[in-house]
Amino acid sequence: MEAASRYTPQARRFVDQVVVITGGAQGLGAAFAHRFAAEGAHVVVLDLRCDKCGPLVHTLRAMYGVQVLAIPTDVSEVEAVHRAVEQTLATFGRVDVWVNNAGVYRGTPMEQLDMAEWEMMLRVNYTGVFVCIKAIAPIMKQQRYGRIVNISSIAGRTGFKNCLAYCSNKAAVIGLTRAAAMDLAPFGVTVNAVCPGSILTDMLRQVDAIICKNEGWEPGTHLKQKAEQIPMRRLGTPEEVASVVAFLASPEASYVTGQSIEVDGGEIVV
Ligand code: NAD
Repeated sequence: MEAASRYTPQARRFVDQVVVITGGAQGLGAAFAHRFAAEGAHVVVLDLRCDKCGPLVHTLRAMYGVQVLAIPTDVSEVEAVHRAVEQTLATFGRVDVWVNNAGVYRGTPMEQLDMAEWEMMLRVNYTGVFVCIKAIAPIMKQQRYGRIVNISSIAGRTGFKNCLAYCSNKAAVIGLTRAAAMDLAPFGVTVNAVCPGSILTDMLRQVDAIICKNEGWEPGTHLKQKAEQIPMRRLGTPEEVASVVAFLASPEASYVTGQSIEVDGGEIVV
């Protein structure tokens, strides 16, 4: 099978479960939405850009026969996240899985990184994860069941040039994952992180555009070089990250908590 092709799940591990995905309008989040819906889950997408969600919502309903909600939400706004949780509970009455995926990337050199950008990145990539965990934890504790999966990055495991804010935000998400896992473990709620490597989405195309502009290269050069450096000699697909997220979110991962798992074709091993 071509590794990059869309995987058709054989199992249906999430039938009638309710799965919330932040930043689910596109890229990795949209692939997660497909994967959970394909395995029987009702899906709630929270995103700043819900204007882009129409086709995704329609496709998920039509392909998998599940219920889908798209709620415009800024994950860094406490009130907005609480409203989204209330709307989800009013519709479905429970939340089984919450995937903290919303994120932003900027490749700004240290000398140009101002406080406004630093704080914006921190709010979305880190505080947003805390806001969502704090909002959903009491519900999952009461259910005595829940799965939280935070999307960090290999940038949280290593250092990249011009990546001060993003690398530190993503490292902080790994710390938050471990600490939240300790608080929630007695209640049957697991918290894990996934650290994707170079996965072809709009965000990675943006990384390529910034690096190629800075270096004076043809667009696409950075991604080509990157693919050659990765032990598996290719970029990853959103579906390959979705497989690992789905495992951690499933009842199968019942004894896994506080972990961070790279999905990177071996990129940070070298
Ligand atoms: P993307 O830019 O394609 O999608 C990100 C989504 O998050 C968008 O739909 C955007 O509207 C939404 N979003 C941004 N800010 C938000 C906010 N404040 N509130 C709600 N939604 C918001 O990016 P992607 O590549 O799909 O990345 C998804 C996650 O995976 C991010 O956390 C990213 O840091 C992480 N990641 C991506 C890669 C990669 O190679 N693509 C690698 C490692 C980690």
